[in-house]
Amino acid sequence: MSTTSERSTQVIGLIGGLSWKSSAEYYRLINEAVGKRRGGMHSARCLLWSFDFADIELLQRTDRWEQAAALMVDAAQRLQRGGADFLVIATNTMHISAPQIEAAVDLPLLHIADAAAAPIKAAGLRRVGLLGTAFTMEQDFYSGRMARQHGLDVIVPETLDRATVHRIIYQELVHGRLLETSRDAYRQVIARLVARGAEAIILGCTELMLLVGPADSAVPLYDTTALHAEAAVLRALSTLPGH
Ligand code: GLU
Repeated sequence: MSTTSERSTQVIGLIGGLSWKSSAEYYRLINEAVGKRRGGMHSARCLLWSFDFADIELLQRTDRWEQAAALMVDAAQRLQRGGADFLVIATNTMHISAPQIEAAVDLPLLHIADAAAAPIKAAGLRRVGLLGTAFTMEQDFYSGRMARQHGLDVIVPETLDRATVHRIIYQELVHGRLLETSRDAYRQVIARLVARGAEAIILGCTELMLLVGPADSAVPLYDTTALHAEAAVLRALSTLPGH
C-alpha cells in the first residue's frame, strides 16, 4: 500500500523503458498535467521501472512471448512492492502481457487501448486506422479489445506498409532518429488508410508522436502516449477531494 493521504495523489506505477524515449514523454506529460491541475509545486507521485529495451526487444523478435511476459510480471511485482496504487504499461506492444500481469499482481492496470478508445467513441467515430509495431497491428490483443469492448472497427495498413511502419519504429524512433523521409512514408500510409475509410488514426505506438502530428493526417490523430498519460493522471487525482 502506498502512503496516500486524502491530500495526496495515488502513486502511478509505470512500466517503461519500452523504449525510454517514450517513457521520458510519459514522465513529462504526467508531471505537467498534475502541475497544471493542482498548481503550485505539485507534481506526480510515481514509480518507474525502466527496462533495458534490448532484453525485451530480443524476446519480441524471437517470438519468446512467455519469457517477455515473465519479465513484465517481474516489473509489475517490483512496482507493487514499491507502493504503486495502479499500473501503467508505458507502451502499446507489451500490453500483449496484460493478462499475465493482471493475474499476477493485485493492482488495477490502466489499459492503453481503453484510454485510446474512450475519446474516439466520445467523438462518435467508429472506423479507425491503427499504426504500431507489427505485433500490435497483426495480433488480436489490441484491435480485438477495441472491437469487442469498444465497438470500434479497426483497420490496419496493407502488408508492405505494415513492414515500413514497424521498421521505422525499431530502426529509428526508439533511437530518437526522426527523418523527414520516414515522416513522408507515414503520411502516405495514413492517406491510404483514410482512402479505405478510416475516420481517425490511432498512433498505437508510444514513439509515433515524436515523428507524426496533426499536419500529417487528413483525419484526427489519437496519440496513445498522451491519452494514456492523461488517463493515468485522472486516476491518480481521483482520490483527491473535489475530483
Ligand atoms: N513503444 C512501442 C509501442 O508502443 C514499441 C516498442 C515496444 O516494442 O515496446 O508499441
